[in-house]
Amino acid sequence: MTRLDSAIRRLTAQRDSLDWATQLTAPEGVVLELGLGNGRTYDHLRTRLPRREIYVFERSPAAHPDCMPPDPYLIVGDIFETLPVFIERFGPGAAALIHTDIGTGDEEANRKLALRLAPLLEALLQPGGILLADRAFAMPSCADISSETGIAEGRYFAYRRT
Ligand code: SAM
Repeated sequence: MTRLDSAIRRLTAQRDSLDWATQLTAPEGVVLELGLGNGRTYDHLRTRLPRREIYVFERSPAAHPDCMPPDPYLIVGDIFETLPVFIERFGPGAAALIHTDIGTGDEEANRKLALRLAPLLEALLQPGGILLADRAFAMPSCADISSETGIAEGRYFAYRRT
């Protein structure tokens, strides 16, 4: 498999997972995008979930201008500083859907990041809320429902808050 094949496979899994999750997203609750990047997945989310409040977290916003979230919905800073403030503002259990895509090519760093992020995501998800992630998370209050997405095992990860 070439690097091009692998990139296409990853992006296809990401797009198909987002399509799957947005069809199941509860009508109440905010939607969170962690990692704006160049705005590709944010653009997909806002198209699939029009009229929903989508809060986007990013430490260095540099997306295509067409994919920049409107001011109150772009939360700039390190998520380990901005997410706790968000939880205080909205209360625990505020999110119907969270998509996180903030990893890098460094697997050890990604593992540590997921460990640190997991309790914040658990606090944010409403009962029945869905986390979609580019990597596995260990969250005692959530069920791993990745096998329900129809995506090949290990390509993208989905959890539902119990
Ligand atoms: N999903 C995006 C897209 O489709 O364009 C790509 C996201 S990119 C892989 C990851 C983004 O997460 C980067 O823009 C990076 O700056 C951001 N990021 C990584 N760690 C972060 C952190 N601790 N706090 C805030 N943003 C972070």
